[in-house]
Amino acid sequence: MKKLQAKVVKSTGAWYDLISEDGMLLKARLKGNLRLEGLSSTNPVAVGDNVTLTLENGDWMIGEIADRENYIIRKSPSRKGQYHILAANIDQAFLLITISKPRTSTGFIDRFLVTAEAYQIPSILVFNKQDALTEKDKIVQDNLIETYTEIGYECLLVSSKTGEGIKEIIENMKGKTTLLAGHSGVGKSTFANAIDNNLDLRTAEVSKKYEKGRHTTTFAEMFPLKFGGNIIDIPGIKEFGLVDFEEEDISHFFPEMASLLPECKFNNCMHINEPDCAVLAALEEGKITEFRYQNYLNMVNDINEEKEY
Ligand code: GDP
Ligand code: ZN
Repeated sequence: MKKLQAKVVKSTGAWYDLISEDGMLLKARLKGNLRLEGLSSTNPVAVGDNVTLTLENGDWMIGEIADRENYIIRKSPSRKGQYHILAANIDQAFLLITISKPRTSTGFIDRFLVTAEAYQIPSILVFNKQDALTEKDKIVQDNLIETYTEIGYECLLVSSKTGEGIKEIIENMKGKTTLLAGHSGVGKSTFANAIDNNLDLRTAEVSKKYEKGRHTTTFAEMFPLKFGGNIIDIPGIKEFGLVDFEEEDISHFFPEMASLLPECKFNNCMHINEPDCAVLAALEEGKITEFRYQNYLNMVNDINEEKEY
């Protein structure tokens, strides 16, 4: 029987678009009996999955799915307690940030980083629109970079408009699958086009809107890059949320807090007003940045509020 290894780049319901190991684009269907073990998901195969295809009656069929290195999920909008896997096997995430027009809040940044930590996806902060910064913007940006670099996050500066920093970005992305995230308006489409002029994420957004009207469920799409590697785009990144987090999990995903946790007096310490709390002590000493701590509190509160419903 003829077999092929391939990667899923798009799911459109019954049919999947895939790219084979040797770069061939093809379509395949799922075998009826294919089920995922251990996760109640509404989709057995996701964008980024590495699969084995077999040729049956002239159609490629998805047989086996390789174990996932990681994956990101969202709650199923229709079925309670079920997940939808948005994408799998992500090497890294780029969070595109702009200081103004539109301003990316640190609340948004930290929520993204915490989620990515939980999914074990290394994140890089990419500050776009360097050509448009005012002196004041620069100060704000420098402060953010100082904070995030200290914690261990890499920060890169680019202008998708002038091409500043794009060469370094391409070097970084070669051979990897990169998830691209950011508010609408930060320049994701422009950025994608700057690194590979064959890419036009906007076309994807438009077709997605159209598909939504037809009740199909396309949530993520992968684009092969001409220099090797892939970009994963998820329109509506807001839905990339904290699925089933417990409030006591959050501090584990703040790297600057995680290392301190064993030093708190109480092992169920929430780091809010408990005595002998290592996190509060570090905050007091300025070793944890005020705004990061505030964002931590906001996330804990949000989880509590959700539970009250
Ligand atoms: P998306 O919603 O994230 O896909 O953002 P777009 O790529 O559509 O960009 C939003 C706006 O920002 C457009 O008007 C772009 O021309 C502009 N833009 C994107 N990147 C840059 C940049 O590096 N510098 C400047 N000055 N404008 C940019
Ligand atoms: Zn504590």
